[in-house]
Amino acid sequence: MVATWEVNSNIFQQNVQRVIGDYNVMAVVKNNAYNYGLEFAVNQFLKAGISTFSTTSLNEAIRVRQLAPDATIFLMNPSIEFEKLRAHDIHMTLPSLSFYHQYKSELHDIHVHVEYENLLHRSGFKTLDEILSVLVEHFSDVDSKMKVSGLWTHFGYADEFDGPEYEKELQDWMNIVDTLLEKGYQFEMIHAQNSASFMRESKVLNHHTHVRIGIALYGSRPYSSLSRDTIQQSLRVKANVIQIREVNENDYCGYSFAFKAKHDHTRLAVVDIGYGDGILRTRAQHEVSIKGRKYPIRALMMSHMFVEVDENVASTDEVIIYDNDLRIDDYTFKGVGANSEQLSALNLDSLKKEYV
Ligand SMILES: *Cc1c(COP(=O)(O)O)cnc(C)c1O
Repeated sequence: MVATWEVNSNIFQQNVQRVIGDYNVMAVVKNNAYNYGLEFAVNQFLKAGISTFSTTSLNEAIRVRQLAPDATIFLMNPSIEFEKLRAHDIHMTLPSLSFYHQYKSELHDIHVHVEYENLLHRSGFKTLDEILSVLVEHFSDVDSKMKVSGLWTHFGYADEFDGPEYEKELQDWMNIVDTLLEKGYQFEMIHAQNSASFMRESKVLNHHTHVRIGIALYGSRPYSSLSRDTIQQSLRVKANVIQIREVNENDYCGYSFAFKAKHDHTRLAVVDIGYGDGILRTRAQHEVSIKGRKYPIRALMMSHMFVEVDENVASTDEVIIYDNDLRIDDYTFKGVGANSEQLSALNLDSLKKEYV
């Protein structure tokens, strides 16, 4: 009996196919494919017909190249390991004017995608004029031998519905795309939409060649008003009842008075999973499922948790922390933490990892 992280490959594949429909998708596989496993995820995406990938680390990009020799691979962070980029045919962001000026001679033969900063302010060119200046300079300089293959941005507010930010970043961006195309610049790839933007627009934006999505492919909804059955979660995280303890009224349980029993004969199940396995502390304010019933978590420790149970629960019973009923996205919407935060926290060195 060990706590287990388990992905159902069929459900994963069904979800991917349903999410992508007939759209052209760049699958985001950063951070070990949101902790689903880079090799597993890339193979599933290839099987679903996806042939374009992106990540934030050059090492991951090179691993994707080994798994997918014919794929287009886009590195969202800048790297100055130019030889490796060329050797593995990795496309890369062009993140700023100063990066271009510093490295333009070394960028020869590398496919770059010009990045517009937008409201997230994480990376990219600040203005249309900055983008134009680099394009003008590049195309008039015979020694500037990078290949301008793409144009892209990232929407930081696509999952926000309360303010005007998303509409603003969308409009600013569309203005940039339209203006550059009107001026006669051409890009093999134009991509901007993450899962939230893709799902709220229900289409690929005008002139765009790809949607660049992650979380929806991995089975979590990017925002709460989406119906649950648009996306299926293939991941189950399950643990086991090690023993049942009875405590009396006013007994404290767990470290630092974590829980005080309200009555005599309170039954606490000791479960073999904790924050050391990556269960977020905020998750412990909610319930788990044992034999189809919900029971509240009372205390979270490094490798254990206490769950208050009734007489239907016995030692060795299976305890579900996450599955397609207790979904990661539902807890995200209850404030437990971003979908990707819980997914990437799950500790696959301590949990048993299984693909079924
Ligand atoms: C993570 C990431 C994505 C994918 O976002 P999801 O919300 O997971 O679809 C797209 N673009 C960039 C730049 C990212 O960092």
